Amino acid sequence: MSLRFHALNNLLNSSPIAPGYTSKITAIFAENVFSHQTARQFLSDEAFKSLMGSIKSHQKIDRSMANQIANGIRAWAESKGVSHFTHWFQPLTGATAEKHDSFFTIKSDGTPIEQFEGDALIQQEPDASSFPSGGLRATFEARGYTAWDPSSPAFIMDIGYGKTLCIPTIFVSYTGESLDYKAPLLKALEALNHAAVDVCNYFDRNVSKVTATLGWEQEYFVVDEGLFNARPDLVMCGRTVFGHGSAKGQQLEDHYFGSIPERLYAFMRDYEKEAYKLGIPLRTRHNEVAPAQFECAPIFEEVNIAVDHNTLLMDVMTRVAQRHKLRVILHEKPFAGINGSGKHNNWSLATDTGVNLLAPGKTPKTNLMFLTFFVNAIKAVHDYADILRASIASAQNDFRLGANEAPPAIISVFIGQYLTKVLNDVKERVGDDFDEQDESLLKIDIHRSIPELLMDNTDRNRTSPFAFTGNKFEFRAVGSSANCANPMTVLNTIMAQTLKEFKKDVDALIEKGEKKEIAIIHTIREYIVASERILFEGDGYSSEWEKEAGKRGLENIKTTPLALDAMVTEKAKSLFENNKIYSESELEARHEIELEKYIKKVQIEGRVMVELASSHILPSAVRYQNVLLENVQRLKEAGLAEGACTERTKTLNKISEHINKVSTLTEEMIEARKKCNKIEDSREKAIAYCEEVKEKYFDAIRYHADKLEQMVEDKEWSLPKYREILFLR
Ligand code: ADP
Ligand code: MG
Repeated sequence: MSLRFHALNNLLNSSPIAPGYTSKITAIFAENVFSHQTARQFLSDEAFKSLMGSIKSHQKIDRSMANQIANGIRAWAESKGVSHFTHWFQPLTGATAEKHDSFFTIKSDGTPIEQFEGDALIQQEPDASSFPSGGLRATFEARGYTAWDPSSPAFIMDIGYGKTLCIPTIFVSYTGESLDYKAPLLKALEALNHAAVDVCNYFDRNVSKVTATLGWEQEYFVVDEGLFNARPDLVMCGRTVFGHGSAKGQQLEDHYFGSIPERLYAFMRDYEKEAYKLGIPLRTRHNEVAPAQFECAPIFEEVNIAVDHNTLLMDVMTRVAQRHKLRVILHEKPFAGINGSGKHNNWSLATDTGVNLLAPGKTPKTNLMFLTFFVNAIKAVHDYADILRASIASAQNDFRLGANEAPPAIISVFIGQYLTKVLNDVKERVGDDFDEQDESLLKIDIHRSIPELLMDNTDRNRTSPFAFTGNKFEFRAVGSSANCANPMTVLNTIMAQTLKEFKKDVDALIEKGEKKEIAIIHTIREYIVASERILFEGDGYSSEWEKEAGKRGLENIKTTPLALDAMVTEKAKSLFENNKIYSESELEARHEIELEKYIKKVQIEGRVMVELASSHILPSAVRYQNVLLENVQRLKEAGLAEGACTERTKTLNKISEHINKVSTLTEEMIEARKKCNKIEDSREKAIAYCEEVKEKYFDAIRYHADKLEQMVEDKEWSLPKYREILFLR
């Protein structure tokens, strides 16, 4: 019996495991986090103060205090039954990395003890040679180290059998190049902080810190583990490379916000419990549009913490699912013909005086501050749309961007009717001429009309990659499996850069003797004029928009190898160097790593296709072909008239045709891949893999394979079908 039927059999006997938590959420929230309260409890006054100081000032912890802090953390961890610790970091592979060490050690006199030294807390040297470095460490220094970022608290991961103390770290080479997602993100947030505080001070001198906030919405699929395991493509690539669409897909839209199936519900409560213990503030859960697709979202947090929490959650979900004999699929497009998964990044800026800079104000002055940040964000996206596009490029996201349920690869900004009108007003009434000021403009009352805007849901454009939603922007083009750090690094860097330019422009006018408010509104006007072509209110999924965007000169780069070019232009290099995020060599290295990832992903998919075609699809088809042949032969032997076999003969011919096509196309694809593999240059190789392998063969082979699935007798088919994977649980 094939794995498919085993899995189907087992499904009949599956039942939900009891839901995860029965207490109130507040009773378990952050119980596995070394939070401020816990620190207070386990550290001396001196050590506590030192730690809080480091967190506040984003400094490394004081060496002289490190032992005390480490001891406190160990005491806490041991009180919870922890025996091992690890530096937890986010390498460029996309997953999180850990290497566990025990507290246990043997003293020189042979006494076994448990200890955790300050040095081990602050810095470690994982054997890092197998992490992608884009050649950085080959040219500079072979080693890398991880260093504690005290702004993210330590936590205990206790899923399954292990209980491990995790110290969130950045990962850098000995010569200082970033080798992970976190180090550049922290730099970008710092750059943004400085630039935004400077601009805030035009309006309020009390602002001394601006933090970027992120609230992600994670979409994912969940399928039965047995069915998942019977699909080598899901196991190897996280997506199905074959599979005929089921008769029912998402056309009835009956899954969206529908009641959550019991088995899934149990799983959700269970991973939520683990998430709460880790301090991840989950808030919503619901069914998504596609069958077997779901979403969860937390309360927003500071970007740095939100990024950690998202990567942690992806890990937690994946692990907890296995307890329930389920599998989480985070791939951007696991199933053809139904929606893919994204990870909307809701983003805003908050001051230490408690103001959301992207929320319209209540007075003319705060209105002007809102307009300033709002328009700077639009200008940033306009000026650096190509780099923002590159930040979300991946082999997986290519299947989604521009497909009919996801934002297009064209970056545009949606702001809604009312704010469009406000920007037009500013543009027209301020004019180019300084002499004819319309001072009444400074009194524009945005706030009064905003509540109506927020009420009006029709004004929410679901098709825009970057949409204003009342008090934040929502970057929707981010892929579901992505680490948010990359798009967040870019978004905050381009915002920092734009705000710096804004300040320069405003100051120049002030120096010429212009009043501050007039200088600001004039610069705002200029920025509106300079970036308005990126504003689009219509249907982003339509083909008219593609044409219109072309006319406006907006780029529409559909494939990753080409989209990545924007990372290494002169523009990108000076942007990232000016803001001290990436050096030129770091950018080149990252570019190289992304290209490599792309090549490998396509390569693996190509291989899986060949494997499935030759060891599953063709054998199934041939077996069924034989059944038909035998039937035809018997009919003939029985002396029936010629016409009796016509239909079967037709079917036989069709099956033969598809079999031949699958075989010849896979052979050709193998040859095409061999050619690609000979290409030295990564960019050219990636482009070749995209155009000569993926685009030429993937859909073509799939077409014939899926036809065979439809024709071959069900019991002969060894791969679980879409209707089973998506609808049975
Ligand atoms: P929806 O977009 O589904 O209507 P909401 O507008 O309530 O839902 O929020 C969606 C996401 O936006 C949530 O994850 C929430 O945490 C996040 N969010 C809300 N306000 C902010 C903010 N100021 N900064 C960043 N994210 C925010
Ligand atoms: Mg949303």
